[in-house]
Amino acid sequence: MSDYQEFHRRSIEQPEAFWGAEAARIYWHKPYTQVLQYDNPPFRQWFAGGETNLCYNAVDRHLAERAEQAALIHVSSETGAEQSYTYRQLYEEVSRFAAIMQAQGVGKGDRVLIYMPMIPEAIFAMLATVRLGAIHSVVFGGFASASLATRIEDAAPKLLVTADAGMRGGKVIAYKPLVDEAMELAGAAAADKVILVNRGLAEAPMMKPGRDLDYATLREQHWHDRAGVEWVESNHPSYILYTSGTTGKPKGVQRDTGGYAVALASTMEYIYGGKPGETYFSTSDIGWVVGHSYIVYAPLISGMATLVYEGLPIRPDPGIWWQLVEKYRATVMFSAPTALRVLKKQDPEWLHKYDLSSLRALFLAGEPLDEPTAEWISGELKIPVLDNYWQTETGWPMLTVCNGVQPLPTKLGSPGLPVYGYNVKLLDETTGEEVPVGEKGVIAVIPPLPPGCMSTVWRQDERFVNTYFSLFQDRKVYSSFDWGVRDADGYFTILGRTDDVINVAGHRLGTREIEEAVSGHAAIAEVAVVGVHDTLKGQVPQAFAVLRDPSVLKDPEKKAALEKEVISKVASQLGAIANPARVYFVNQLPKTRSGKVLRRSIQALAEGRDPGDLTTLDDPSGLEQVRDAVQS
Ligand code: ATP
Ligand code: MG
Repeated sequence: MSDYQEFHRRSIEQPEAFWGAEAARIYWHKPYTQVLQYDNPPFRQWFAGGETNLCYNAVDRHLAERAEQAALIHVSSETGAEQSYTYRQLYEEVSRFAAIMQAQGVGKGDRVLIYMPMIPEAIFAMLATVRLGAIHSVVFGGFASASLATRIEDAAPKLLVTADAGMRGGKVIAYKPLVDEAMELAGAAAADKVILVNRGLAEAPMMKPGRDLDYATLREQHWHDRAGVEWVESNHPSYILYTSGTTGKPKGVQRDTGGYAVALASTMEYIYGGKPGETYFSTSDIGWVVGHSYIVYAPLISGMATLVYEGLPIRPDPGIWWQLVEKYRATVMFSAPTALRVLKKQDPEWLHKYDLSSLRALFLAGEPLDEPTAEWISGELKIPVLDNYWQTETGWPMLTVCNGVQPLPTKLGSPGLPVYGYNVKLLDETTGEEVPVGEKGVIAVIPPLPPGCMSTVWRQDERFVNTYFSLFQDRKVYSSFDWGVRDADGYFTILGRTDDVINVAGHRLGTREIEEAVSGHAAIAEVAVVGVHDTLKGQVPQAFAVLRDPSVLKDPEKKAALEKEVISKVASQLGAIANPARVYFVNQLPKTRSGKVLRRSIQALAEGRDPGDLTTLDDPSGLEQVRDAVQS
């Protein structure tokens, strides 16, 4: 057995010994009485009785050793702002912001809704909230007022923190009018107070007397005020965060405190290899789970500097991210396949312009890492490129290669092995039995879930149990609702969501398999495959592809020839059963704000149905393109 297998086995067979040792990575104000309490499955309590605080672990704890070291580096390619905060400065900003919140009546257990662009104050607000034992709900900045309103209704926050505006691609997006609209929609659940960080981007935002407060004014007033840390029990909620809404209505994931801190701290050694004093660069947004875990909490808990970036990956030019890696000597970088595909379309010289020798590894998560993209970026960077498979629900990776435990090879198209703490199994959807090597099944976790995973659906325990733990009638097994396969070495490959599985004349196919075959064609930049109702076969696959060179589309002959080529490529790779009935060419795919392809909406349009809940849709033109394509 390899070292890693042994390590993983110990985490599953002796969870108390394993996590008891890991718990020493964080500061406990009061020791816990039990590592794991599991008498009410699927609910579990990690480190019950222990008292700690996320903000203390992320900020105060470092003051003794690294007060003058950089903690937060903010760069905005939208406004040109660039500023670095030491741990001491971070402590001052955060404890002052916490004092401001306290003065507005925020205390333990209260909710604070944060609707902010990627500016330092957004992170100060998150840390200030957990400092007080309050619970943050960060809503991705730029979500429309309806999405914001449902999240306000769900959390019923005491306070809402926002800014006058965000900026995207040089365009100012005023936030305050959206907040006002959402507060109106939320009715009784609306926040008592709104704190506005005025960046001077939007024209004089309307301030409602008695409700809306200006952050700069408050900061002056409270200049010398510092709020202390509120110690909370390990299972006290730290935040609520909604899933991306790719498959339907987003779910409000509730996270604990102690278990989350311990899990994140462990991943910095075992997965990311980041060390105190180094720079961690995650290109995500604080509105997503990657932002919570790997922009804010894990790097700071680990005493690193976190690089916070506002802007697009290609502005002012496609070298911007690499320029920042060079400038701040980032050792760990975390991004998403969707962003990498954007960069892949640019001149490769942008990657060669900068000294990237500080980087030890690149991590990607959020959606399948297609083989052409993985091959390209690992060839360019010549460092390990690691695919992380996880979910908002888990808070940290479920499948990857843990190079910090034992360096093991990666395999193209596979995130790797079950991460320590996760007893991942592939189960047959109907029988619930484990499927043999090479056969497809539902990615499931045998409980208890490890520390840091979701505690429940906010205020809906029943929905939590019914949604995640009832796929198999007799057993409380956690279902990911993703579909995968495992090879003889134990490496997993994600085949798509269980909702997206295509059934062609009784053969079950994952959308991912067909997508990989299509994107293997040199002309294709990106593709989504969906199953479309067919009276004869039940379902047939249809592909919606974005071309590397869209000029081909102007020539109907070339277009028809390309469609044929793609279809025969899939046939040669997967067999005729997987053949897309049609390949439609579009300029853009409909995606969620977090960059995930909205297959359910594409499928609906292809079947002539209503595209469903679109509150998380990014750019409506992607959907229009699909509509036009199927109607032409
Ligand atoms: P919702 O649950 O609301 O439908 P969502 O599942 O997209 O939205 P997230 O929690 O942001 O919300 O995304 C998790 C999902 O993203 C996973 O369940 C999986 O389908 C996909 N995913 C994440 N990482 C990977 C990866 N490395 N490879 C393949 N798929 C991934
Ligand atoms: Mg999901």
